[in-house]
Amino acid sequence: MNTGVVIDRRYMDHDMGAYHIESPARIEVLIRMLEKDPPVPFVAIPPRPATEEELAWVHERGYIDLIRSTAGKSVPMDADTVAGPKTWGTALLAAGGFLESLDRVMDGSVPNAIALVRPPGHHAEASRAMGFCFFNNIAIGAEHLLRRHGLRRVLIVDWDLHHGNGTERAFYERRDVMYFSAHQSPLYPGTGAVRFFGHGEGFGCNLNVPLLAGKTDADYLLIFNRILAPVAAEFAPEFILVSAGFDIAAGDPLGGMSLTSRGFGLLTDSLAAMAGRTAGGRLAIVLEGGYDLPALGDGVGEVMKALSRGTVPCGDSPCGDPAPGSVSPSLRAELEEPLRTFRGKWDIPAPWVSSA
Ligand SMILES: [Zn+2]
Repeated sequence: MNTGVVIDRRYMDHDMGAYHIESPARIEVLIRMLEKDPPVPFVAIPPRPATEEELAWVHERGYIDLIRSTAGKSVPMDADTVAGPKTWGTALLAAGGFLESLDRVMDGSVPNAIALVRPPGHHAEASRAMGFCFFNNIAIGAEHLLRRHGLRRVLIVDWDLHHGNGTERAFYERRDVMYFSAHQSPLYPGTGAVRFFGHGEGFGCNLNVPLLAGKTDADYLLIFNRILAPVAAEFAPEFILVSAGFDIAAGDPLGGMSLTSRGFGLLTDSLAAMAGRTAGGRLAIVLEGGYDLPALGDGVGEVMKALSRGTVPCGDSPCGDPAPGSVSPSLRAELEEPLRTFRGKWDIPAPWVSSA
């Protein structure tokens, strides 16, 4: 069955200035790829604007009013985030487009989906736009699954280069939404330390894996298969949502990670396998960062190919454990604190490939 894709020219309407890296051209390259050379057949999902009620699941009313009041104007929100004349409308369409993709997965018309939207969302907090983000698309999506579809547990996986501070804060004391982030550290926005492991009922449901620059496909795959997968199996999400930042691609101007386009496909395969175990394969991805335009297009293409493969067991396939010797030498030491912390709550078998 073909995967679902949310894409719309109106995602180019939000414009923070000619020299801003989070530019309409990011959507333009994706539209061109899907029109001229689609990696796989797909079902186009038309977006709709999110309602203010849906935004209010995550954002304060006064903040929603503030963003609405920027319509038709140009208003700086932080050092690198500007609400332009069409930002309000585009941001509603970004959140609403993601919700549409979730509805199509829930009603079975597509097995999984990717929402290629902007502005991105994972830095947006309840009453604060920051880091190119206005409304937290993925957090609103998780609430949608719980409130409208009656799901009980949702897993959010954030592979963007940056830590998703907004998503972390939205669910920090909740046990119905697990947040797992691997991110470059130190880096903007400065959050995402391992010790922030959730609080109260949410203790153990906020998992941060800060990483030094230079990590590869093999490193991320090992983290997904050997740390995230066992935690996910125990948490048993009914849906997996992904904050997909392609700013971990090699050559991205903001980051120092070294993922290849093939790596993005393998990470998607790994997540699809997790979704197949407890979530009926339900997996929906939303675009966050990614600023090297060719790498963005290639990465999205590989993710779409993986989504169209559906759920594949990762045991002996390419999304299984990486080849001996391919893991970065420093990774073991970097994962000591996350493993020690996560094992306080979750049953993670001793890592890992003996040769690492
Ligand atoms: Zn990012």
